[in-house]
Amino acid sequence: MESPAVTFTLAYLVFAVCFVFPPDEVRSAGLTVQSLLAAWLGSEDAAFVQYHLRRSTSTLLAHSLLPLGYYLAVTSALAYYWSRKGWNNHPLARTLAVHALPQSGWREVASSINTEFRRIDKFATGAPGARVIVTDTWVIKVTTYCLHVAQQQDIHLTVTDSRQHELTPDSNMPVQFLTIRVASINPYVKAFDIRLNSTEYGELREKLRAPIINAANVVIHQSLSDLFLETFTSLVEINQTYSVPSTQELEPCIGCMQTIANIKLVKNCQEPNEGECQQCYCRPMWCLTCMGKWFASRQDQQHPETWLSSQVPCPTCRAKFCILDVCIIR
Ligand SMILES: [Zn+2]
Ligand SMILES: [Zn+2]
Ligand SMILES: [Zn+2]
Repeated sequence: MESPAVTFTLAYLVFAVCFVFPPDEVRSAGLTVQSLLAAWLGSEDAAFVQYHLRRSTSTLLAHSLLPLGYYLAVTSALAYYWSRKGWNNHPLARTLAVHALPQSGWREVASSINTEFRRIDKFATGAPGARVIVTDTWVIKVTTYCLHVAQQQDIHLTVTDSRQHELTPDSNMPVQFLTIRVASINPYVKAFDIRLNSTEYGELREKLRAPIINAANVVIHQSLSDLFLETFTSLVEINQTYSVPSTQELEPCIGCMQTIANIKLVKNCQEPNEGECQQCYCRPMWCLTCMGKWFASRQDQQHPETWLSSQVPCPTCRAKFCILDVCIIR
């Protein structure tokens, strides 16, 4: 492909120069903007200024199309080359050929992928520009211009990065994105990264035969409640704190029996609707994590956007409270 490309580039360059600065031969052959558009430009003698308004504008437009014409011609040639011999030359065909068994070719690999992709138990996720598909045999990443394909039995997966997006505008929930590196022992398969939402991690792991190594020691929040707990904690930490009388001794949390109770519910919110939140008179019995889990467990799982603004009953006395009323004991 290299030398035809060079030849074409040189030829196009000559054509472009002749088009912009037409030599007499080209001029007399009528290959100038002026003569090609003569009918539309009208007569210079009849309306000199109008003629040149049109001529200068159309010349500018025609010249600006030259680079576009070049790229269009080059990519058309490439498209034609790829499509030859039943797509044998397409990079994807070569990507697949790497996985072909001896005495077979990329078409057999393609039909295996086609068959497995049709199954409903495949794992599929991701935005259109970076889709991830995991079937029984294959791990595939689809990007705008190419496909990465690895065979399940050949790969090592490593969690390399996690990014937490705090509160997205459409839902009040934080979202954690994991980056997982897929490396193959097949030397012809280049390693590639896949990205997915942490809540899909469990589903991915179920579909994979290889374990996923967590190299970055990323804490993976697999459920909505896990994710919510972080937000809950960070919000409670900016609330007013509560000091217990020095005579009162704090007991272990009755939820987990591991941490000393460190939460007191005090009605701090200025609820306009009186009667929504109520004062709880229970002594401190819960730790922050257990209270967060309780709060999450009482929510509508289908509507996470309402979680932060909702009220739930105290686990002991049933007095209603909101996040603003959860105080850490100092
Ligand atoms: Zn607890
Ligand atoms: Zn209570
Ligand atoms: Zn409240």
